[in-house]
Amino acid sequence: MPKKKQIDPYVCPNCGTKAEKAQKTWQLVSPLPDSYGRITITVMGSFVCPNCGHKWKSVVSKIKAGGSSVEIEGKKGVKKIESKDSEEKANEGEVIELDLSDLDEDEEE
Ligand SMILES: [Zn+2]
Repeated sequence: MPKKKQIDPYVCPNCGTKAEKAQKTWQLVSPLPDSYGRITITVMGSFVCPNCGHKWKSVVSKIKAGGSSVEIEGKKGVKKIESKDSEEKANEGEVIELDLSDLDEDEEE
């Protein structure tokens, strides 16, 4: 299977001229979380070619948010932001302190 070349969303599919920026951007939120329980937010952009006037829509970037990390997928690749603070706090909340002397009483030896 030939590998698909990643298409630059800013390049006009008609003449290949690179647009400065999107005329308009908006976000599409996927209603279903992925296997990691993350929601995918797709940032769409509408472009108008400064050369030929061709109009097109393209995916500018994708953001995966949820759990303890945020992934931003854009032109420069995937940027993963781990939020260690929230992870540590979540773990702290799950710590169950056991009184070992109580266990000893129940256990027979
Ligand atoms: Zn064009």
